[in-house]
Amino acid sequence: MFNKVLIANRGEIALRILRACKEMGIQTVAAHSTADADAMHVRLADQSVCIGPPSSRDSYLNMHEIVAACEITGADAIHPGYGFLSENAKFAEILEAHGITFIGPSSDHIKVMGDKIMAKQTAQRLGIPVVPGSDGAVTEDSEAKRIAADIGYPVIIKAASGGGGRGMRVVNSAAEMQVALQTTRSEAGAAFGDDAVYIEKYLGKPRHIEVQVMGDGKGKGVHLGERDCSLQRRHQKVLEEANSPALTAEQREKIGMICADAIGDLGYSGAGTIEFLYENGEFYFIEMNTRLQVEHPVTEMITRIDLVNEQLRVASGQDMSFDQKDVRFQGHAIECRINAENARTFVPSPGEITYYHPPGGLGVRVDSGVFTGYKVPPYYDSLIGKLIVVGRNREECLNRLRRSLDEFVVGGIQTTLPLFQDLVRNKDVIAGDYDIHWLENYLEKMG
Ligand code: ADP
Repeated sequence: MFNKVLIANRGEIALRILRACKEMGIQTVAAHSTADADAMHVRLADQSVCIGPPSSRDSYLNMHEIVAACEITGADAIHPGYGFLSENAKFAEILEAHGITFIGPSSDHIKVMGDKIMAKQTAQRLGIPVVPGSDGAVTEDSEAKRIAADIGYPVIIKAASGGGGRGMRVVNSAAEMQVALQTTRSEAGAAFGDDAVYIEKYLGKPRHIEVQVMGDGKGKGVHLGERDCSLQRRHQKVLEEANSPALTAEQREKIGMICADAIGDLGYSGAGTIEFLYENGEFYFIEMNTRLQVEHPVTEMITRIDLVNEQLRVASGQDMSFDQKDVRFQGHAIECRINAENARTFVPSPGEITYYHPPGGLGVRVDSGVFTGYKVPPYYDSLIGKLIVVGRNREECLNRLRRSLDEFVVGGIQTTLPLFQDLVRNKDVIAGDYDIHWLENYLEKMG
């Protein structure tokens, strides 16, 4: 096992990683920007190193400073968290060359999954169901029209290097194709430095269902069930739950085992998430994330498996602490992402938290690094914490979530807590009856 792990991230996930390290007797180094000098994980870490000014480009994305921080402190591994450098194959490669362990998969696996065309081809080869569409990149109008006519309109044009919900365009008819193809290609070239695009069937009312997987890098692959992340705003997840209210135990087992076997075949190492759109009983692969996800706690709460602990074990060459047969789902968990934003306009609301009182009690978990007097910096994403609640069933979970949200007090700044207080009282949410467009429609109706 590692002696010392450098945490190359900030906020709640940095603290989450630190907690797992402490429980395993691993020393921690917090690599932080000047804006995060007061952060909770910096205070709790054994050592801390300032890696640059507030701008992420100069700090959390600054590979040279991070490698230097590792060398100065003698850390033998880096946990990248999510976002920032977590899916950067070049960073993983640099660490491999420096003999520092990247806590995540190999740079080759990051590369394959980072290119959506390659990822889709790989998924298909491994027996994972994909969205019908072009076999690879599409450049010619005529080819695009032929494929679209084949699979039927509407279709979606997607950038091979796109991410974060950007670089996609829905096309409703052949008449729109030429302009749409041109625009998406030139936008993708400008935004991602790669103008390759591909085409797939546009699904009208899907749910977003993703499978948590883990591989030991030696051919063993397991799944830890799925998460339903259909409640999204601008393709960003807002509330996540496990298990999905839409799946039966048989469907769960079936898609889970397809993913577990694929991960084993790939020789994948570490935690990953295979994302699907789900419509009319069918799964359609959209992408794989080769890192820990923001919403990983809902899986932890119903499996009682610590995913960061397992990531550390696998990265250090040890075996996972469990086999597929040990994964049992108990109860239901829901996570709310609490952002420092106005709950109606979603305008960021950085500033000092003058009062902080998180909820507690049975089945309540708050992953957050904030405290009374903490100043939310304006430089990063606005996530200030996650409220995760588990119950023996979905109804108990929702009752517990309702009262937990009512206990939660954050003073001095605006947060999205009021949005969740409304959502947990909505009949569609209570019934689990929603698709990926539900929240946008709801917000539009609310004005
Ligand atoms: P990103 O990497 O930018 O997150 P994804 O491929 O994961 O891109 O897609 C993001 C979101 O875009 C999905 O969650 C879904 O809402 C929508 N989307 C992507 N592909 C399709 C499709 N074929 N049909 C309908 N919606 C889609």
